[in-house]
Amino acid sequence: MAPIVILGSGLAGYTVAREFRKLDAATPLTVVTRDDGAVYSKPMLSNALAGGRSAAALASADAAGAAAQFNATVRAHREVTAIDTGARSVTLANGERLEYSQLVLALGADPIRVPLAGDAADAVMQVNDLADYARFLAAIEHATHVTILGAGLIGCEFANDLLASGRRVDVIDPAPWPLGRLVPERVGRAMAAKLGAAGVNLRLGTTAAAVERAGTRLRVQLAGGEAIDTDAVLSAIGLRPRTQLAQTTGLTVNRGIVVDRQLRTSAPGVFALGDCAEVEGQVLPFVMPLMNAARALAKTLAGQPTDVRYPAMPVVVKTPAAPLAVSPPATWAQGNWHFEEGADGSLAATFVDAQGGLLGFALLGGAPATRQALTRRLPAVLD
Ligand SMILES: Cc1cc2nc3c(=O)[nH]c(=O)nc-3n(C[C@H](O)[C@H](O)[C@H](O)COP(=O)(O)OP(=O)(O)OC[C@H]3O[C@@H](n4cnc5c(N)ncnc54)[C@H](O)[C@@H]3O)c2cc1C
Repeated sequence: MAPIVILGSGLAGYTVAREFRKLDAATPLTVVTRDDGAVYSKPMLSNALAGGRSAAALASADAAGAAAQFNATVRAHREVTAIDTGARSVTLANGERLEYSQLVLALGADPIRVPLAGDAADAVMQVNDLADYARFLAAIEHATHVTILGAGLIGCEFANDLLASGRRVDVIDPAPWPLGRLVPERVGRAMAAKLGAAGVNLRLGTTAAAVERAGTRLRVQLAGGEAIDTDAVLSAIGLRPRTQLAQTTGLTVNRGIVVDRQLRTSAPGVFALGDCAEVEGQVLPFVMPLMNAARALAKTLAGQPTDVRYPAMPVVVKTPAAPLAVSPPATWAQGNWHFEEGADGSLAATFVDAQGGLLGFALLGGAPATRQALTRRLPAVLD
């Protein structure tokens, strides 16, 4: 019998494998991945520099270890270029065909690149997997100053981590405050003040227009004419679900690969989860949603069709200089933000609807118990 085939060895792919093996020890399982198949937790990439951790130290197992752990065949460094949903097979870049009984797309997301002018535009780095992290680490070995494009979650985390590793950091973002899409203005400005006080040089309300070589260093030209001389530039603008393979296969794609609550794509026997998927209209590129999706999908693959359920899933932003937990409301139109400053300097923003129901929060500082108490009051994201 053809194996269940999982495309992708990130948290989504390997969590499905792990959860499936808890239910079914025997059905053949194959993981195909274009990276090296190492097992690692991606969130660690943006808080490992300060601890001096190498890429190898972040991997808990290599492809062979993963194969043993999940009783699976792991085909590393293999890119899938086509899917034939009629014949139930995938084609690899080397022309090899693999048949599947059920197929799981766990393909992740691509970093968004902004068009930049300048002869060093191609020197701008991004960190979205372990290999990127290894390259970035090598590139900044002697760097004393790093410039980050984007003050979102990942940009702020890297800024804090680079700072803690003893480097100077500039962060450029067109928005007036960091994490603009996740937090209201007052929290964003308080976050900016804390990061600034810690030493991060936030340059908000502007964009990078070009990156040029300046001797052995780089020069980032800002839209307003100012320039920053720096040793390395990291782009953290955002991520876009990897949908191309699904699209050329003819699967329904919107912002992500469209799936229903059983993670079913528009083709029979083909499922998707993680950063590449749009589950009931929602693209949630975080760990908690994919863990919940993986548990439900494992049951479905094992013959017990199961809907995914998302509880409230706040994200803890890994910025020790400005600890933030956030659960943004699904829509900002039906409610209002309320603010409360704690005696400990914390700032709690709660988003409450007309009936007094809590729909979201942003908590800057404060005790984990406060976060837990607020989380318990939130509605489920998918019930
Ligand atoms: C720096 C950073 C910090 C983060 N911190 C947090 C955090 O603190 N909390 C949180 O909740 N979330 C965080 N996230 C988001 C979270 O890490 C992701 O949502 C999650 O790791 C996505 O996992 P995935 O398996 O869907 O995708 P990925 O890990 O990107 O895996 C995709 C896999 O697909 C493979 N692949 C792609 N195309 C092909 C192909 N054609 N053929 C074969 N294989 C293919 C790739 O090789 C890879 O193995 C962070 C993300 C980043 C980048």
